[in-house]
Amino acid sequence: TKGAAMVTAVASRVQAQRKQIDKVLALFRLTQEQLVGIQNKMRVEFEYGLKKDTHPLATVKMLPTYVCGMPDGTEKGKFLALDLGGTNFRVLLVKIRSGRRSVRMYNKIFAVPLEIMQGTGEELFDHIVQCIADFLDYMGLKGAQLPLGFTFSFPCRQTSIDKGTLIEWTKGFKATDCEGEDVVDMLREAIKRRNEFDLDIVAVVNDTVGTMMTCGYEDRNCEVGLIAGTGSNMCYMEEMRNIELVEGDEGKMCINTEWGGFGDNGCLDDIQTQYDKEVDEGSLNPGKQRYEKMTSGMYLGEIVRQILINLTKQGLLFRGQISERLRTRGIFETKFLSQIESDRLALLQVRRILQQLGLDSTCEDSIVVKEVCGVVSRRAAQLYGAGLAAIVEKRREDQGLEHMRITVGVDGTLYKLHPHFSRILRETVKELAPHCDVMFMLSEDGSGKGAALITAVAKRLQQAQRE
Ligand code: BGC
Ligand code: MG
Repeated sequence: TKGAAMVTAVASRVQAQRKQIDKVLALFRLTQEQLVGIQNKMRVEFEYGLKKDTHPLATVKMLPTYVCGMPDGTEKGKFLALDLGGTNFRVLLVKIRSGRRSVRMYNKIFAVPLEIMQGTGEELFDHIVQCIADFLDYMGLKGAQLPLGFTFSFPCRQTSIDKGTLIEWTKGFKATDCEGEDVVDMLREAIKRRNEFDLDIVAVVNDTVGTMMTCGYEDRNCEVGLIAGTGSNMCYMEEMRNIELVEGDEGKMCINTEWGGFGDNGCLDDIQTQYDKEVDEGSLNPGKQRYEKMTSGMYLGEIVRQILINLTKQGLLFRGQISERLRTRGIFETKFLSQIESDRLALLQVRRILQQLGLDSTCEDSIVVKEVCGVVSRRAAQLYGAGLAAIVEKRREDQGLEHMRITVGVDGTLYKLHPHFSRILRETVKELAPHCDVMFMLSEDGSGKGAALITAVAKRLQQAQRE
């Protein structure tokens, strides 16, 4: 009959639409084989970065940090720490008491306005110094000459613990006249320009390194630091003999891998989707940080948005209407992705979140949006897992161990807030590095505390050298 024919027609249209949606989602599903392939490629890139001959062209830069030792518990004193690189700038006062390994912290958060992130270098550093002045005032510390550790979460070439030349900006930063310059010098000059106080800048530190240090303070097995936040990166302790860029064969040094640049030579092209390409093209640094753009909080929401736009164009979502909101960059922050993917949320609540984002959805729409978020964040966690498996397996082989236990210090909103990310990451590492027991340790404010600990160690070594 007519009615039955109509029902069949609707059913087959729904089926056809489903097929189209599945086709898009499938692009983000990685097989075990692909993941092993990515792990192996990452391993190759690590070696390229470490070796003198291949280093200049390496996309995973494997930067020496001149951090060679873990805190031993004898560190003490008051330190200032700066933290630049995420969404905010922070100034901290960190008090370390020896013996009991206790740390007290006071901090103030300052916004970094877009026009400062993307203005001139001088303006950026003047702003930083202005924030430091505010903090010192607020704490009643003007005039105190405290040792300072600067957590600067961008790729820097270091020749000592207190020197760091910015290689290039990443994430949302693009201030002029900074690339190729020493960020410690720029900070010193800005302090001089202000001519109000003096600071003893002892160390410049990547956030991964601070994170590893903070966890290493409590767990001596912690030899990897991982950030899954706005950006994506990993550091680890490497044998000096494997670090060709630094003289000496004794002991270990922390290497800041800058693995965000993995894929910049095209080696990830086979898994890159058109959506990844669109995100890359719309970013501040096209062609750069391709692995970071598939894995970190700053970009995952953008990938989701590109997919939603495409599905809407195909008439598969939002009644085929692309709203102004959906065209707006940056609407899907990590916290929204985390909420949408939370299993405790009913679909109605997903719709409410979409509503908050200015997206009018039907119940079917909200199911699809949740699925899209799911495949994008799962792929990110698996890619992180492949990278991490590559480093722990390398460490195990380098030490000639059949089995290895290692702790990874972790920080970042994606790891901390997302309902599934950390689990999928752990599962992937377990599958890809079956001979390693990898423990994950959440760092409590790694960037701040870690910078202070590194400063404390550096200060202790400085003094020992003088005596
Ligand atoms: C930077 C790294 C940093 C990471 C996490 C990346 O964009 O290049 O230096 O560790 O973000 O903040
Ligand atoms: Mg060496």
